[in-house]
Amino acid sequence: MQFGPEYVRAIAPYQAGKPIAEVAREFGLDEASIVKLASNENPFGVPESSKAAMAQAVLELGRYPDANGFELKAALAARYDVPADWITLGNGSNDILEIAAHAFVQKGEAVVFSQYSFAVYALATQGVGGRAIVVPAVNYGHDLASMAAAIDADTRLVYVANPNNPTGTFIGADEIEAFLKQVPAKVIVVLDEAYNEYLAPEHQFESASWVRKYPNLVVSRTFSKAYGLAGLRVGFAIAQLDATDLMNRVRQPFNVNSLAQAAAIAALNDKAFLAQGAENNAQGYKQLVTAFEELGLEYVPSFGNFVLVRVGQDDGAGARINLALLKQGVIVRPVAAYGLPQWLRISIGLPQENAAFIEALKKALA
Ligand SMILES: *Cc1c(COP(=O)(O)O)cnc(C)c1O
Repeated sequence: MQFGPEYVRAIAPYQAGKPIAEVAREFGLDEASIVKLASNENPFGVPESSKAAMAQAVLELGRYPDANGFELKAALAARYDVPADWITLGNGSNDILEIAAHAFVQKGEAVVFSQYSFAVYALATQGVGGRAIVVPAVNYGHDLASMAAAIDADTRLVYVANPNNPTGTFIGADEIEAFLKQVPAKVIVVLDEAYNEYLAPEHQFESASWVRKYPNLVVSRTFSKAYGLAGLRVGFAIAQLDATDLMNRVRQPFNVNSLAQAAAIAALNDKAFLAQGAENNAQGYKQLVTAFEELGLEYVPSFGNFVLVRVGQDDGAGARINLALLKQGVIVRPVAAYGLPQWLRISIGLPQENAAFIEALKKALA
């Protein structure tokens, strides 16, 4: 029996990082000994401030969450200096990416995104029967000039990841703004900044201030990465009222649960947690790329909390080295599904986790 539309049947499901428990079962390992550097999670886990906020919020779980996320939106509005009604909350920013596709694209219309960009852009496009226009990457990053040129009369949406996942590439403020000026006013640009908080101060810029200038810009952020709340699922978008109003119509009424709302407010105010994470990330990045250089491995310079590294010159290399790492209890992310079969993506962990990965990698390559 064939159910559903052809464009849904054509979807290749998202491949997530392997859970620790699954690897322990499959390879007969002790869960505690496993190092997971596969999903760009925060190695410090949940901030203490968020745990305390959730302990309070648990007592109210018998009630529905605030459908409008009043307090979280107020906190975000204050932080980014935008009106609260310019904010859309999402069940993770993945939800935001999908909400945007539902709100702005109908079957047969086109969506532009880059080769080697986040897998969810293709999924969200296919989910609404959209036509994907995939623009070849340059040096593993977005080629914004070609992306602007690829926008055709049917294009309704462009996804831009900055920094990009899985490659870690980054586009500076001037280039992004030049791109925004080129995009037709009726085409929505979703600027996905899932890793923004990891950028060094000299690369940070307030994209929320562009939202004031560009009614077609939707900035997407998440609490899953630097804020350490991946398991809770909370993200948000900032856009002017017209775009926000449409996104609000297609989202689930209670898409962000009460614990997530409470934890996100606490995390947003926990500057020390972010600072600690950024510091660890900068150190860990050096630790990883120093090892790659010693091993003579090519890597893509990264602005996120992960590094893409080429582990061989044949198309079996990624899978082979990945398996050798799994057997040693180290979970990283193969990226063959992104068209990068010679590469692996390594999330930056704590110093001892990075060291365990490096040791295991040396054995795997030997
Ligand atoms: C991780 C990631 C997201 C989404 O994560 P959520 O947990 O759904 O917020 C979005 N975009 C990119 C580029 C990512 O890497």
